[in-house]
Amino acid sequence: MHQPTSVPRASIYYDYRIHQPWLASAHPEQMRQKVVIAGSGPAGLVAALKLAQLGVPSVVLTSELQVSQGSRAIVFTRRSMEILQDVGVADRVTQAGLPWRFGNSYYRGQRVFRMEAPHDEDDRFFPMINLQQQYLEEYLLDACANQPLIDLRWGNKVEAVEQRADHAVVTVDTPEGPYTLEADWVVAADGGRSGIRAAMGLQMEGASYEGYFVIADIRCDLPLPTERLAFFDPEWNPGNTVLVHREPHGIWRVDYQLPAGETPEEALKPESLKARIDATLAMIGHAGIAWEMDWCSVYSARTLTLPDYVQGRVLFTGDAAHLLPIFGVRGANTGFQDAQSLAWHLALVVKAQAGTALLANYSAERVNAAREIIDESGKSTRFMAPPSRGFKLLRDAVLSLSLSQAFVRPLYHWRTSRPHEYSHSALNATGDDTLLFRAGPAHGAPPQNVRLGADDYLLDHVGEGFTLLYVTAGAIPAPLRDVVDSVGARGVPVKLIAVGAAGPVDGADLALPDTDGRLRRRYGMEAAGAAYLLRPDQHVCARWIALDAVRLRAALAKALPQ
Ligand SMILES: Cc1cc2nc3c(=O)[nH]c(=O)nc-3n(C[C@H](O)[C@H](O)[C@H](O)COP(=O)(O)OP(=O)(O)OC[C@H]3O[C@@H](n4cnc5c(N)ncnc54)[C@H](O)[C@@H]3O)c2cc1C
Repeated sequence: MHQPTSVPRASIYYDYRIHQPWLASAHPEQMRQKVVIAGSGPAGLVAALKLAQLGVPSVVLTSELQVSQGSRAIVFTRRSMEILQDVGVADRVTQAGLPWRFGNSYYRGQRVFRMEAPHDEDDRFFPMINLQQQYLEEYLLDACANQPLIDLRWGNKVEAVEQRADHAVVTVDTPEGPYTLEADWVVAADGGRSGIRAAMGLQMEGASYEGYFVIADIRCDLPLPTERLAFFDPEWNPGNTVLVHREPHGIWRVDYQLPAGETPEEALKPESLKARIDATLAMIGHAGIAWEMDWCSVYSARTLTLPDYVQGRVLFTGDAAHLLPIFGVRGANTGFQDAQSLAWHLALVVKAQAGTALLANYSAERVNAAREIIDESGKSTRFMAPPSRGFKLLRDAVLSLSLSQAFVRPLYHWRTSRPHEYSHSALNATGDDTLLFRAGPAHGAPPQNVRLGADDYLLDHVGEGFTLLYVTAGAIPAPLRDVVDSVGARGVPVKLIAVGAAGPVDGADLALPDTDGRLRRRYGMEAAGAAYLLRPDQHVCARWIALDAVRLRAALAKALPQ
């Protein structure tokens, strides 16, 4: 019998709330579910919210009675914020988080590189915002609680998943014993140690790096701005790397690499932690300052992915699908993209608006994304924690040259998590005009946000299905509207936005006047009739210099394979 702890986790700044377990005895009627999601981490919750947005109910099973232990993911990227906006929690993250855009790298006490992440007036969100993962999970859970299509079951641990021809049977253990649940689809969002992945005997591809980092959250009154600090080869930790990040509530994240051969047990001894955190604080000019420990853990880098995220009726997402190094803030940030992607693909399949081939596309796109990230983050990992003498020699050469040679300094660049472009997606249109565009996001790219007014941005209006941006000064041509309506009649939401008309536009769901022409310029939409088709995850799948109904119908058919 599964007995999750009902003792709140310890924290000096976060009050853990204990939820009541969901018990089958209080719900004797168990129907076949469309979607069961195992796990209520960032990936599981974003998937549930996006599915609900698209009208698909889900049951979320989560083994614990409270949110996760420790701050874990503390840095969320602009693209993550755009996804969180899509599922309705970005405002709370903005209110609670610490936005930032600068990073500083030091070598032997000298600052050798200052990273400046681009940010312009078209961006609603900063390049990065720091917030502890417990808060993020809390906001996502609150959004789920307000969503009648989501049935979240605390204290429900997935014990087994048995695949049948057209559904799966999930065995769930609870504080009163097990029950079974039938589901058309099971989303495995049960994290890095996914029991579902292990039980199915699935092997991940990639590498695990030797060497450990300690991650410690301390409360400390440091008068420093919210900027990332990275120290290479500092005096107190020769040959190794130390990172410092500011978090909300007076908490600071200190990450330091352990000398070769030191075990996690030795590293987590209180005297070892104290000596190293004191040394880090002295290194940043605050020797002797008082601090208090909140949470600490030991971490080692892995770059692993499943080669296919669709395994029969079980769909993998987030850390259950891949394990990525935290350098470049890739874990949760990648999980959001996976979950948003999985949810819209799955929603259309569940609603029979597309065939199961669409799920193969989810896997292809997100496995490619993971492989690209593995390639990028492998470089960061080899720089932060060189895996061999050769890599160490190269890294040390860059470090020492950087003291006097400006040209090597950009090699410190951190290669932050960025959204993958689905340039080769099977869903991209073939007969459109993408190659003729001189500006704007191309096939498969995520959208560029554009400021439309004082507190009004393009992405405030995009999501919840497909979006057609169409430049017109007059009414929408009837044949275009007919195509949109015929797809809408099948249950696929398509929002038609007229761009560039002064007032309401006949046949459009929304009109954006774009008075100064900024949106049209940024998207390379030079004349009336130009258009973009965005998928439910806001990525571009077609664009035209002059759209007609035949080509719109073809593009929608390509994006919705039967
Ligand atoms: C120390 C540390 C620091 C990190 N720092 C960063 C960072 O700065 N930036 C970043 O982007 N990422 C960071 N990450 C990674 C980030 O925390 C993960 O990538 C992220 O939480 C993955 O989300 P997920 O939803 O896939 O999995 P998880 O958050 O692990 O969620 C898994 C969920 O499944 C549940 N579960 C597990 N087994 C079962 C079961 N059998 N039945 C039912 N439920 C189950 C768990 O209780 C949990 O709710 C860090 C991770 C760690 C450990």
